Amino acid sequence: MAIKIKIDGRECLCEKGEYIYDIAKRNGIEIPTYCRSDAFPDHRACCRMCIVEVVQRGRSRIVASCVYPVDGECEVLTASPRILEDRAVLRALIKQTEDEAEGVEFQRLAQIENDKCILCGLCVQACESLGTGAISLVNRGVDKDVDTPYLKPNKACVGCLSCANVCPMDAITWSETETTRSIWHREFQLARCSCCGKVLGTVDSLEYSRKKSGKQAKSVPLETTYLCDECRKEALAREMRETYRLV
Ligand code: SF4
Ligand code: SF4
Repeated sequence: MAIKIKIDGRECLCEKGEYIYDIAKRNGIEIPTYCRSDAFPDHRACCRMCIVEVVQRGRSRIVASCVYPVDGECEVLTASPRILEDRAVLRALIKQTEDEAEGVEFQRLAQIENDKCILCGLCVQACESLGTGAISLVNRGVDKDVDTPYLKPNKACVGCLSCANVCPMDAITWSETETTRSIWHREFQLARCSCCGKVLGTVDSLEYSRKKSGKQAKSVPLETTYLCDECRKEALAREMRETYRLV
């Protein structure tokens, strides 16, 4: 049976067990978050920016809306004075704004000042979903970080940048030259379209995708192996035209 709740004064219908964050989103109410990603709907409760105040049966409590299931009628405040204050502290920790973070435990703040990572784990999940599993959360307590095992080059990494692209904090550093890409203590050869020269990824990442899709690299000579979509389409069209002319 549908439950009626109020979010910032607006009536919203939901099912028992639905998370407040999802109900708000469905109703066009935006709750700030850093770690939610449509690509990983099950990845929740990492950055805590989505805290809201829930008032139910005369009691009020602060909860992480992305993992708080509705179990009855209640009122949700996404920007009450309490929430704005707590969120400012979280934001200060995350954004490294020392002034705002007055009163926050120094050691934790000092740790984050040199490190944009909020330990949301999205990068680890992105890598795992590819089947590469090259990075993980390492160390403990304030030293916790994301890296390869033993902080050493990991053969499992293919240099695809999926981890960096999904990172909400732009915390994963990588660099490129004309011919190489460096990430996670490794250097990879870039693969370019053999026709127009556009960078298509690393050789390792393209070979990995090809193996996963079951195509054998050895059936095609290396120099004609990599073609971007546009050049491939053009090559096919050319082939078709020549075939018809021959018939
Ligand atoms: S670059 Fe390496 S660590 Fe990052 S997602 Fe790709 S394989 Fe995983
Ligand atoms: S590096 Fe980015 S994606 Fe990975 S845990 Fe840190 S903030 Fe999240």
